[in-house]
Amino acid sequence: MQFPQKHSATGTTIFTVMSALATKHGAINLSQGFPDFPIDKELADFLGEAAHHGHNQYAPMPGLPVLRHAVCNDFKRRYNVDIDVDTEITITPGATYGIYTAFTCVLQPGDEAILLEPAYDSYIPNIEMNGAKAVPIALSAPDFTVDWNKVKAAVTSKTRALILNTPHNPTGAVWTKEDWDTLADIVKNTNIVILSDEVYEQLIFDGLRHYSVLEHPELRERSFALYSFGKVFNNTGWKTGYCIAPMAYTTAFRRIHQFLSFTANTPAQYALAHHLASGKASNVQAIMEEKRNLFLSLMKETPFTIHNPARGSYFQLASYERINDMSDMDFAQWLTTEHGVATIPISAFYHNKKDDKLIRFCFAKQEETLRAAVDKLRCL
Ligand code: PMP
Ligand code: GLN
Repeated sequence: MQFPQKHSATGTTIFTVMSALATKHGAINLSQGFPDFPIDKELADFLGEAAHHGHNQYAPMPGLPVLRHAVCNDFKRRYNVDIDVDTEITITPGATYGIYTAFTCVLQPGDEAILLEPAYDSYIPNIEMNGAKAVPIALSAPDFTVDWNKVKAAVTSKTRALILNTPHNPTGAVWTKEDWDTLADIVKNTNIVILSDEVYEQLIFDGLRHYSVLEHPELRERSFALYSFGKVFNNTGWKTGYCIAPMAYTTAFRRIHQFLSFTANTPAQYALAHHLASGKASNVQAIMEEKRNLFLSLMKETPFTIHNPARGSYFQLASYERINDMSDMDFAQWLTTEHGVATIPISAFYHNKKDDKLIRFCFAKQEETLRAAVDKLRCL
């Protein structure tokens, strides 16, 4: 049986490859982005309560009202934006799903979609699975800012979507207010729809503030904003997220969603709603900043070079220029199999596997894990 090639990515996603290699070799896993510490006890208890008290059947297609209310209240409090609970938010089985669904609303064969590289590895396949052409633009190293002239030059009459991600995986870069204003100028008088991947919105450091697309009135009216509870509540395996978008966009989103997954996991929605509303969730921002700081100070004892501290996300890039000149893929494999620490090679985030000899560490880990990993790296 020959199945059609729906996208150009070959092989298995790097996150699966590196996590499997870490398991096989008993390496400390700083590759795939997931925390290794427990979730809040209250949240776990709410999940049990949901299952024990009969919240086990399909939730309404847009998501449990109690969760949609809790999220909208939270955004009002944190960003002072009003979101209509009935017509502007849809709970999804994770942000990856939300991104695919949003692309599917917008793209048709022959369209073009712009993305900024290095990029989360589902973007290009998702664009191509909808018959459209991915137009990757490289961010400017070493701080991975957007070269807006390049973005402007990439816009054609076929450009239908642009996806962005801030705080950024894998570089930890964060957009400024000026970035948003420049994007607004570029897309003015075009048909471009924005997909704003803000899954790390609460993981931002050094006193910086996350600007959401929802705060920018001109952009908000042409955007799908995508979020993941996994990053905020340290439960990536629950695969629950949401999409916030204007009414017409949400209607289009739900037309696809109702026939793709129909709804998202009910007990998880119940637990997240009650935890969010209780106000007792741990301060994930402070916890993650502390981890970033610890990791940066420990890394000073290793031969790795850190050109730019992560300003947000779970991730820190590091250069191994002082260790050897292997390709980043070979280096990541060698580090896992020979030195017991798994990371992600950054070439995996480029369509053309551009190799800048950088690897990504995930610091969303317990202090013991980070210390044990650096103990191994120190001897390189
Ligand atoms: N976008 C980015 C930039 C990510 O790093 C991830 C991975 N967590 C996602 C989207 C997907 O999130 P989820 O696990 O909710 O699908
Ligand atoms: N977003 C996570 C990362 O970048 C992984 C998600 C996945 O495994 N697809 O590591």
